[in-house]
Amino acid sequence: MKIIRRKTKTIKIGSVYIGGTNPIAIQSMTKAKTADIEKTIRQIKELEKADCQIVRLAVKDSDDARAIKKIKPKVNIPLVADIHFNWRLALEAIDSGIDKIRLNPGNIYKKEQIREIAKAAKVNRIPIRVGVNSGSLKSHKSGVTSQASQADKMVKSTLDYIKILEGFKFYDIVVSLKASNILDTIEAYRKMAKLCEYPFHLGMTATGLPLQGTIKSSITIGALLLEGIGDTIRVSLTDKPEPEVYAARGILESLGLRYFGPEIISCPTCGRCEVDLVSIVKKMENLLSRYPVIPLSRLTGKRANGSTGSPSLEPSRAKSRDGQTGKPFKVAIMGCVVNGPGEASDADIGVAFGRKEGLLFRNHKAIKKVSSSNCIATLLKELRHLKNHI
Ligand code: SF4
Repeated sequence: MKIIRRKTKTIKIGSVYIGGTNPIAIQSMTKAKTADIEKTIRQIKELEKADCQIVRLAVKDSDDARAIKKIKPKVNIPLVADIHFNWRLALEAIDSGIDKIRLNPGNIYKKEQIREIAKAAKVNRIPIRVGVNSGSLKSHKSGVTSQASQADKMVKSTLDYIKILEGFKFYDIVVSLKASNILDTIEAYRKMAKLCEYPFHLGMTATGLPLQGTIKSSITIGALLLEGIGDTIRVSLTDKPEPEVYAARGILESLGLRYFGPEIISCPTCGRCEVDLVSIVKKMENLLSRYPVIPLSRLTGKRANGSTGSPSLEPSRAKSRDGQTGKPFKVAIMGCVVNGPGEASDADIGVAFGRKEGLLFRNHKAIKKVSSSNCIATLLKELRHLKNHI
């Protein structure tokens, strides 16, 4: 099956282009007060390391807006100002050098205020995201009834706002329609996709802790991406910022839309497995950089001692065979001979374990036996060898 991307305008956000045929960009949001410049820069640096491409900052007051001036020269990815209620903060953020503005039609809706923001954004070539959120929808006097579906209300709110911006000859627009449930979000984006050619920022709102949030976001964002809808994604999680990026990476990789390192294929293990496959795969995953291996305690937000919080997990980086949009290397690590040889021989490198030792495959051919204790070193050596010969 081939994913055919929806045709959209291309929008430039700082140095990043979204929409058109550009790769789907990953974005996240800092969780520190923006006026806490050091902490905000530290979080952005962590996000950069995790392969985040765009970062949004909450701009709640003038201190936050002014802080952008000091943050921007210290970071490498475009910054987006998240503005609610106070339209003047959008102008201050633009003055401070922001790369994009997010406006919420639910709380900044007066035409003359929007006109001032659009004017300043146009002069500075800054796009505006019309970021509708089901939790802050403004009631409409015309067009949709109070019985209309949540999705229809979100679409109406987005369309009204786009019309206002277009009325001011402002077309540098990105659109998002986020609800906290999967069906409303998908319906809203699907409907909106038929009504405009602006690129979409995909996401859900208020998804919860990492396990639940990743599941909900993967279903929603994944379903839309499969239909070719979506140009930049943010996975919202009740956690630190970087896990949002790892989750987004996972969604894009699972759909074959982007790659961030060799792909590991491993079996779930069962009573037939006679080696500690879980440890081997976890070590390999960390060594290959893909994502830090996240313990269950992290996904549920609970530490073993019952406290909440997250251990600091730092990925190293490895690139795929052909860069971020190419095909990744496949590394198969299988627990026994039932499916092991089939999967392992299908991968670029693979090992199918028997009792204590496994059979190593390279380029779809069995090569030699390898002990479980020596397996990781051998797989890494083979991977380096293959990479050097491409
Ligand atoms: Fe079990 Fe073997 Fe299948 Fe792994 S490959 S799940 S060990 S049968």
